[in-house]
Amino acid sequence: MNLQDGQYVFSGGIPVTEIAARYGTPVYVYEADLMHRQYRRLCDAFSIPNARICYACKANTNLQILRLFHHWGAGLDCVSIQEVQLGIKAGFPPHDILFTPNCVSLEEYEKAYTIGTLINIDNISILEQFGQAHPGAKVCIRINPHIMAGGNSKISTGHIDSKFGISIHQLPHVLRVVESTGIRIAGLHMHTGSDILDVEVFLNACDILFGVAASFPDLEYIDFGSGFKVPYKVDDVSTDVEEFGQEISKRFTRFCASYGRELTLMFEPGKFLVSESGTFLVRTNVIKTTVSTVFAGVDSGLNHLIRPMFYNAWHSIENVSNPEGRSRIYTIVGYICETDTFAVDRKLTEVHEGDILAFRNAGAYCYSMASNYNSRYRPPEVLIWEGRDYLIRRREELADLLALQQQDALPFGEPAVADPS
Ligand SMILES: *Cc1c(COP(=O)(O)O)cnc(C)c1O
Repeated sequence: MNLQDGQYVFSGGIPVTEIAARYGTPVYVYEADLMHRQYRRLCDAFSIPNARICYACKANTNLQILRLFHHWGAGLDCVSIQEVQLGIKAGFPPHDILFTPNCVSLEEYEKAYTIGTLINIDNISILEQFGQAHPGAKVCIRINPHIMAGGNSKISTGHIDSKFGISIHQLPHVLRVVESTGIRIAGLHMHTGSDILDVEVFLNACDILFGVAASFPDLEYIDFGSGFKVPYKVDDVSTDVEEFGQEISKRFTRFCASYGRELTLMFEPGKFLVSESGTFLVRTNVIKTTVSTVFAGVDSGLNHLIRPMFYNAWHSIENVSNPEGRSRIYTIVGYICETDTFAVDRKLTEVHEGDILAFRNAGAYCYSMASNYNSRYRPPEVLIWEGRDYLIRRREELADLLALQQQDALPFGEPAVADPS
């Protein structure tokens, strides 16, 4: 979304207010060309013969977005068997899917293995059980290098008391399990957490993984997870992927030479690929002036975009209905019966009731974390691709809220009212 000649437009020059009028609000809008730009940026950052980017789809699992990444040649990183099934539905061949769950049952691993995905095991107990059931099977293991990193404690996964991965200190135990079961370790994986800014921190963790690799002769790939930070504000620092790509390519090439074989270098970003492509459009229901604050109350809430409340995330907000008005200070809140503040004391061009506000960075962990709290409908999703807009998920309606309810479960005689609308 850009401000062009006094008007906010999406790629291809489609006015933002036109999309809001056509699909109603609230609505999520994604620009495919921005996802593609990010994907190409990462691919081009590595000078390695076999580099592979797997899209971590928990950021946004809309089928059309999965289809785009498949079309561009990416692999897929899935954290649940349901994400695997969505990936298959979107056209990914199983061997392009990496199954990277945490604390799931042996049955779920078995399902993914039967489908034919790569399997990433993150604890010794499952490694042993899986190995006993499938001696000779090739799997990947998730190593926790205990690098302290990440934007906040909810998304930081590399520390010593983290539930993620197999501790680097338990390597001897892993080797015993490999020997006793005959399971083959084809991949090493780490994912230290989101929002890593310091390239040195990342590279230190990579070096630790290279050290571990020496113990496993059957390796085919090393997966360095994600953690690429994207800017949320104009002056935000973000991961310098070009610098990082060059540095890790050098070290990876050196490592492969000493290992004696060309391995595949893998990354599995979510946020980096889709965050900036997304815009969330809401309508201002009410301007409420109290003694201390001017609230803009909008037709959405923590049910649709929970990141500000859950992670303290900062999303840029602009008034697309009045781009050239004079600036005023607003606190933007939702309509949920609970405190759901999107932003405090933000400078926006003057907001009138009915104005459309746009939230930036709404492509990752926004729709995929949405709920029906307060029995509200989840919004539609629209994709802008090659200058045209496509509805890629419709807005929910009452029938969707009722779909799973057993409406006449209690023997009260009176059937539930057929159509309460
Ligand atoms: C969530 C997750 C990612 C993606 O993280 P981003 O910060 O969105 O890039 C990658 N790998 C695994 C295993 C994850 O759980």
